[in-house]
Amino acid sequence: MNSARGILLVISGPSGVGKSTVCRRLVDRLGAFLSVSATTRQPREGEVEGRDYIFMSRKEFDELVERGGFLEYAEVYGGHRYGTPAEPVEQHLAAGRVAILEIEIEGTCQVVHRYPEAVTVFIMAPSPTEQRNRLAGRRTESPEAMRERLAKADREIRQARETGVYRYFVVNETVEETVENIIRIVRENEQA
Ligand code: ADP
Ligand code: 5GP
Repeated sequence: MNSARGILLVISGPSGVGKSTVCRRLVDRLGAFLSVSATTRQPREGEVEGRDYIFMSRKEFDELVERGGFLEYAEVYGGHRYGTPAEPVEQHLAAGRVAILEIEIEGTCQVVHRYPEAVTVFIMAPSPTEQRNRLAGRRTESPEAMRERLAKADREIRQARETGVYRYFVVNETVEETVENIIRIVRENEQA
């Protein structure tokens, strides 16, 4: 995607590796637009409607799917659906901005199919132990949900490599380094 049309930056990675933290910093540093996804899961404590997610019933979600309102959507943890509303992303790209999607692998495959020039980044924790510590430190998941998310991480990393849709793999040692790495990647693609 050339700079006149903006850069579509897709960030994925296992739960707890630091995606949200990194994306928030990228928004500040790049003046980027961060897409707010729709989800059928329940809000976590402290999450705000319209800022963290657009919370929807399954019926509302499926109606929006029918109307072609999603750029991509997928079923993620515990059978909940997550999707990227298409219109805001299109508008920001048309205005030449960087638009960031924080989505999982299946959704990334759909995005790359539609926008082959998307800049796709898969973030990993330095080690499984560090991922566990980060997830535990966040204190947002029940023990069962945490187990599910950690168990899924290995599979996700393998799947991310096998699908071939990720152009960059970044280990999130420190937030500062990771943000600098991703900014470098965006700049390279702006010039391409
Ligand atoms: P994700 O969005 O990938 O699930 P979060 O951004 O919520 O992950 O981060 C999970 C926890 O790890 C948060 O408490 C966050 O402050 C912390 N964290 C994020 N990046 C790092 C890092 N590089 N080093 C140490 N802790 C981190
Ligand atoms: P969480 O429940 O922790 O907020 O998010 C769970 C997973 O859903 C994360 O891997 C996140 O990247 C993914 N996700 C969030 N929004 C979307 C979306 O709009 N589409 C897709 N495909 N995945 C999403």
